[in-house]
Amino acid sequence: MNPISDDLAEQIRAIREEVVMRTLAITLFAGGLLLVAILARNLNLGSSLSIVHPVLYLLLFVVYLLRRRIGAERIAWLMVILFYLTATGGLFVSGLVGNSVAIYMVFCFVSTTFFGVGGGVVAAVLSIGSFALVGILYVGGLVALTFDLSDFLRSPYSWLAALMSLGLTTWLVLSQVVSLNGRYMRLLADQHHLARHDSLTGLMNRVALESILEHTIAEAARGDLSVAVVLLDLDRFKNINDSLGHSAGDDLLIQVAGRLRGCVRESDIVARLSGDEFVVVLPRLSSPDVTAIGGKLAAALSAPYMIADRELRTTPSIGISICPRDAGDVETLIKFADTAMYAAKADGGAQFRYFSPEMNQQATDRLLVELRLREGMEHGLLTMHYQPKIDMTGRLTGLEALIRWEGEGGISMLPAQFIAIAEESGLIDEIGDWVIATVCRQLRTWLDDGIRPPRVAINLSARQLRQHNLAMGVARRLIEAAVAPDLLEFEITETAAMENADTAERRLGELSAMGVTLSIDDFGTGYSSLLNLRSLPLDALKIDHTFVRDIASDANDLAIARGTIALAHSLGLRVVAEGVETLEQWQLLRQHGCDEVQGFLIARPAPAEALADILVAGKVAVPA
Ligand code: C2E
Ligand code: MG
Ligand code: MG
Repeated sequence: MNPISDDLAEQIRAIREEVVMRTLAITLFAGGLLLVAILARNLNLGSSLSIVHPVLYLLLFVVYLLRRRIGAERIAWLMVILFYLTATGGLFVSGLVGNSVAIYMVFCFVSTTFFGVGGGVVAAVLSIGSFALVGILYVGGLVALTFDLSDFLRSPYSWLAALMSLGLTTWLVLSQVVSLNGRYMRLLADQHHLARHDSLTGLMNRVALESILEHTIAEAARGDLSVAVVLLDLDRFKNINDSLGHSAGDDLLIQVAGRLRGCVRESDIVARLSGDEFVVVLPRLSSPDVTAIGGKLAAALSAPYMIADRELRTTPSIGISICPRDAGDVETLIKFADTAMYAAKADGGAQFRYFSPEMNQQATDRLLVELRLREGMEHGLLTMHYQPKIDMTGRLTGLEALIRWEGEGGISMLPAQFIAIAEESGLIDEIGDWVIATVCRQLRTWLDDGIRPPRVAINLSARQLRQHNLAMGVARRLIEAAVAPDLLEFEITETAAMENADTAERRLGELSAMGVTLSIDDFGTGYSSLLNLRSLPLDALKIDHTFVRDIASDANDLAIARGTIALAHSLGLRVVAEGVETLEQWQLLRQHGCDEVQGFLIARPAPAEALADILVAGKVAVPA
């Protein structure tokens, strides 16, 4: 059962309990009045009415005093029995019909409230049955009622008693029915609202969106109109959540919801799909061009937010699908808007895209790659290549492990491409673990072969850095292969390290504490300054090959490389240049104090078996 219905059940139980307690109190009051009337009219306790009523009343009174201890459920049973006996007994002995009818009503009411519709039906059948039975017995002359009708009618007290008791119990029943019904309705309305709205922002949720969108589509089709489904996702929302905390994230979402509502008309639909995903539906469009509103939404969400007294910025990636141009059903429209949103995000975010069939093709292709990759892993089509790193004297300082995927039928894909897909789909968790295990096993093989391997660097993806048990996993693989941690190094890109700085710092701290070396990869491609990375337990920094590529021809790139080397050294970091392909690059790097190089000029990535010679020699001939 979900929390909402748990809560609802609890509330219904409380209402029922209250009904029983209130019924008990009012009955006691009404019964008391009746008792007074009886006593005032006729103190002759020999009369059956005079005996039955006070006795039952006393019983009721005791129950009332002990009501909390007895509990609502048992009282409900007691009252049902008591009322039934009172009513039936009353009929038999006194025939005080008015009183009995009222009591039967209470009887049916309590039964229904507490024991459900079934209980009410049983109570009604019993009530009507009793009446019928007494009627038949009386008419058949089998029972003589001790009650003298003419005497009863003559006495004002008996009128008073009957009317009061009838009136009060009727009022009781009606008021309870009305109040209970009102509360039930409110509860149901609340539940309906909760089930269809997002509790954080008050916007509709996916369920409500889907049902309303369905109507909107049908309505638009009748009028030959279009409907636009605009899906918005905040760029880097996860970072905000991770770095500023969930309450700041919640605040942001609430403000985003408010801005979205402010941008559109009352008749437009705004919903929150999940996390930081929102949908705006623009119904009844005469033209499928919603560029203006797309731009307006993007601008509104990109303006700065004030959250916890600090200014915060985010941008949305927006995908738009149009009905009937792109699709005619809710599910496909939302899916296509999502595909378009992903395309906008892949292009750097902060923009909007209309869905196009090519995007769909790309999305399908990605899915296919994901599927193949999964199969590839299962069928051993993933392998590792290793690329040497050397210092300026030619000494082998390390190897970088680079994954290779030999797809079936000779189709292969570059790691940069399939790693990105694996990262998006979450497959990277398994692949990453496979890489670590494979490298550890390879190290063990070299050791067993009597080769002293240098440290091997493994690339870690951003998603792996978020795994809580990353260090544990690494330790397990090291232990399995009986390999020392100082033979492993991890390369983290600058972007991954900065993306969720706190988590990254914790993970890297754990790895470093194990004795594993850490370095920053692709340095210079992100936006962080080296100073931002100061708090991380790093050993080395790898200058991205895009800077190395042009150092011989571009003075700026050379300046960046020189600056980076100097700053890294001042922070006690080794500097490795990646992608060194030419002699000129090598010479410039050596001149400017670069510690190590890696690139085609030295050696290409190769399978482990092909590296035996270099490993045994422990050095590579330095380029002349
Ligand atoms: P990276 O970590 O920066 O790896 C260096 C890339 O540069 C490798 O590409 C390597 O083959 C290439 N390279 C080496 N020397 C030269 C050169 O002289 N010139 C040029 N143009 N390129 C050179 P590769 O193997 O295609 O890998 C690309 C990226 O994929 C890697 O960049 C890394 O980010 C990622 N990657 C590779 N293997 C793994 C892995 O096992 N796990 C993860 N998470 N990522 C991996
Ligand atoms: Mg690398
Ligand atoms: Mg790199």
